Amino acid sequence: MSYDWLVIGGGASGLTAAVILAQEGYRVALVEKSPCLAPLLRGFRRGDFHFDTGFHYSGGLGRGEILDLFFRSLGLSERLRATPFDLSGFDRVRAGGEEEFAFPVGMQRLEEALCRAFPGQERGIAGYLAEVRRACTVHPYLDLEAPLEGSGTLFGLDGTSLREMLLRWTDEPRLQRLLAVHTLLYGVPPAEAPFALHASVVGPYYQSVHGLIGGGAALAEAFAARLAELGVDVFLGQGVRELLFTPAGTLRGARLEDGTELGSRGCVATLHPALLPGLVPEGVFRPVYRRRLLALEDSLPAFTLYGVCRKSNDLLHGRNIFLLGADDKGLEDTIYLTAADNGPARASGLVAIASEAPGGTDRWKDSVRGRRPAGYEAYKAERAASLVRRIEEACPEFGGVEVLATATALTMRDYLHTPYGGLYGVRHRIGQFNPQPRTRVAHLLLAGQGVVAPGVLGAVLSGFLTCGELIGHERLRERVKACR
Ligand SMILES: Cc1cc2nc3c(=O)[nH]c(=O)nc-3n(C[C@H](O)[C@H](O)[C@H](O)COP(=O)(O)OP(=O)(O)OC[C@H]3O[C@@H](n4cnc5c(N)ncnc54)[C@H](O)[C@@H]3O)c2cc1C
Repeated sequence: MSYDWLVIGGGASGLTAAVILAQEGYRVALVEKSPCLAPLLRGFRRGDFHFDTGFHYSGGLGRGEILDLFFRSLGLSERLRATPFDLSGFDRVRAGGEEEFAFPVGMQRLEEALCRAFPGQERGIAGYLAEVRRACTVHPYLDLEAPLEGSGTLFGLDGTSLREMLLRWTDEPRLQRLLAVHTLLYGVPPAEAPFALHASVVGPYYQSVHGLIGGGAALAEAFAARLAELGVDVFLGQGVRELLFTPAGTLRGARLEDGTELGSRGCVATLHPALLPGLVPEGVFRPVYRRRLLALEDSLPAFTLYGVCRKSNDLLHGRNIFLLGADDKGLEDTIYLTAADNGPARASGLVAIASEAPGGTDRWKDSVRGRRPAGYEAYKAERAASLVRRIEEACPEFGGVEVLATATALTMRDYLHTPYGGLYGVRHRIGQFNPQPRTRVAHLLLAGQGVVAPGVLGAVLSGFLTCGELIGHERLRERVKACR
């Protein structure tokens, strides 16, 4: 079997790349190690509840906004229906059992709400939000009118950190903490998070916020149907074990875990970049590049609880809650609560995500899914119980929480085939090497959340960015603009 392009990984980024390349008329194969496409997006069922895993909500999904345009350009929109989050407060922040702030949808309304909540900080709030807006107009795939030349195609991992930017605009610690709460959406603490990256993640959320009817599973199904329409061959249940090269060093295809060989003259790899060196023979990459990929640090590990409220309520209907912990702890002590799925049904299934101490599950790292030792199960039960205590204290509306399932960094590692199980793959922090879409090997390119930014928007954007390297950025951007 021979193809023009082979895409490794069937997550949001790989699916995007496969669709774009097939739309260009290339013969494309997509290989996903899991038994189903988009394992991170699909979620799972427990009892009467479907739990979303890798997609709860997103910015950029309003009509004509960037993610909406990407989906239109990919031919997915007919199969997807966005559902707006609560305009008066899509993300609500609680501290000590009281609601401290509700993020309204829309930059202007957010500015007004912040000014009301923090009198005397008006200048700083306006200045900070102007910086967020400005940062979102620089990237040529976030703002399709941004000039291509000289803009760079990636968010720089140098420059100002989020913490420095906050300190520049306000000396009010509560305001700083509030504006940093969304670092939980990419798992990097404010002192390490590049402001440009932070702005590119939160900017689209500040503009508009939607879920998808049917959640991440609907997105996975829309992609699967589109691949079938375009004649993309999909190989599931086995990963790529190695990339194959001619004696002259030209890429010629890949061998899968069951020994199947797929011929291809090009490859877009969307797996965690630290796994790439393991797929290519020694000598293909320069040692320094190899070392840099292998040394990539992961975003914060997380502990996730999937549960059900004992009392029917609509607290999480179209909105999420961030529970702040001790003042001095920040991200590590914040809990993110969202509905089990964000469809139109009344929400009483819930997902709670809290950070896990780095290395917290290291003791069991050699164990495999389904056969973990009793100590690991006891650790999970204890973590779940302490999370439930905090949630019940802060959200009496739930009438108590029953735990149906939990996941740790080991779950993420084994389920998503990543090296360490960090919540969002590679940690995009100040000073860290950021892999570019192009490698030194002709026709071997990278895409995915590790290359651009986490989030479905970041992953889809990275698929466009990488394919833009192949078929021309201007041409691809024109195609997206034509969907306005
Ligand atoms: C708990 C959680 C909640 C989230 N919530 C949201 C949200 O509300 N909104 C939002 O926008 N984003 C959210 N995200 C982030 C978002 O889901 C991800 O950033 C995005 O889906 C990543 O897509 P990707 O294609 O880069 O990576 P992945 O989806 O990880 O795709 C990479 C794929 O490569 C496969 N693979 C690995 N090795 C091989 C191999 N050797 N051969 C073949 N295949 C291989 C893996 O199995 C995997 O499917 C959330 C993430 C998590 C973990």
